[in-house]
Amino acid sequence: MANVVVIGGGLGGLPTAYELRHYLPKEHTVTLISDKPQFTFIPGLIRVALNLNPLNHIQLDLCQLARRQRIEWVAGKVTALDREKKEITVEQDQTVKYDYLAIATGASLAFDEIPGLGPHGGYTQSVCTPDHALQARDAWLEFLENPGDLVVGAMPGTGCFGPAYEFVLMADWELRRQGIRDKVDITYVTPEPYIGHTGVGGIKNAQKLTEELMAERAIKAIANARITHIDPQNITLADGCQLPFKYSMILPSFRGVEFLRKVPGLTNEKGFIPVLPSQRHPDFPSIYALGVGVHLEQPDKTPVPIGLPKSGEMTEAMGVAVAHNIAVELGAIKSPLTKPTLELRSCTSSEKNQNQVHLTRV
Ligand SMILES: Cc1cc2nc3c(=O)[nH]c(=O)nc-3n(C[C@H](O)[C@H](O)[C@H](O)COP(=O)(O)OP(=O)(O)OC[C@H]3O[C@@H](n4cnc5c(N)ncnc54)[C@H](O)[C@@H]3O)c2cc1C
Repeated sequence: MANVVVIGGGLGGLPTAYELRHYLPKEHTVTLISDKPQFTFIPGLIRVALNLNPLNHIQLDLCQLARRQRIEWVAGKVTALDREKKEITVEQDQTVKYDYLAIATGASLAFDEIPGLGPHGGYTQSVCTPDHALQARDAWLEFLENPGDLVVGAMPGTGCFGPAYEFVLMADWELRRQGIRDKVDITYVTPEPYIGHTGVGGIKNAQKLTEELMAERAIKAIANARITHIDPQNITLADGCQLPFKYSMILPSFRGVEFLRKVPGLTNEKGFIPVLPSQRHPDFPSIYALGVGVHLEQPDKTPVPIGLPKSGEMTEAMGVAVAHNIAVELGAIKSPLTKPTLELRSCTSSEKNQNQVHLTRV
């Protein structure tokens, strides 16, 4: 009987484990491994950083959820993967064997590419992890006491722009609510080729509507920006422009997580996993991948490099396809292999052809 292992208990891994349990008869085991004891609803971290929700509002206990769903739960960080032995090492000393593997480990954050970037010894905040959001919230509370310039944006290579737009617009709203908006100059700085591109070019009216939204709120926006370094008071761009700040939230670009990059032939040079339309690795038939850790090509060639967003919606669609296809491989269901649609936004059916983005995987 097979053991199907899912690594990562986030927006991709948890639904994938649920779907696997739904598809597979009892004799097969589903095992979920995660380095964090909680599931975190990542989109909610922006509200945590702006002190609008406590962190525990967006977290659930993974051990309890797994038990309730008859999923085996292993707590710990995966440090190695031996694909010949089909064996995973957790925290150096525990090993877990798999017949099929679904990798949903999300991203590691490339703060080290820009001096002064990020909360680990740098000068800017992040909302990408629960720890970052808590640190960003402490800094935000100090900023409300002693306001000044606010700079929000993303570094070159970022694919995920939605959270930066959400943060800057919610920060504007919160500063108005606190009655101190007149004390804060807000700048949005981005490698996108134009405001409203969001990593997905060609969405009807997005540029006009987003530019209007920013202008109405007196948010200065700078596109095609390449941040080169950050010191305690200023963000410097490649053209020499300096943006002073008292508070700044800059999204980093992403890489695949560390242990994946050490497995020969598993990932590309950035640590992202190539997949076939079925979400299976092209060379390793027992390995599937989903979510932010998957390689998707950015189709637009932009003056400053950007990635392609891998949204939670896309991640869940990939997870459903992964579970379905592993169940087909194990003979638990009789059906052709499926592929996720990976639409990058919802739109009316008449707009669909115009707005659907062509995604290249392998
Ligand atoms: C601030 C923010 C806001 C967002 N808002 C939206 C939104 O509104 N709508 C939307 O569709 N998308 C949104 N996204 C994108 C969405 O969060 C991602 O698409 C989604 O989280 C990707 O899921 P994932 O499973 O690939 O990664 P994650 O959700 O990050 O999960 C990865 C999991 O793997 C675990 N892990 C990593 N390494 C290891 C290891 N070595 N061993 C064991 N476990 C490991 C991590 O702890 C984590 O639990 C947002 C992203 C951010 C950062």
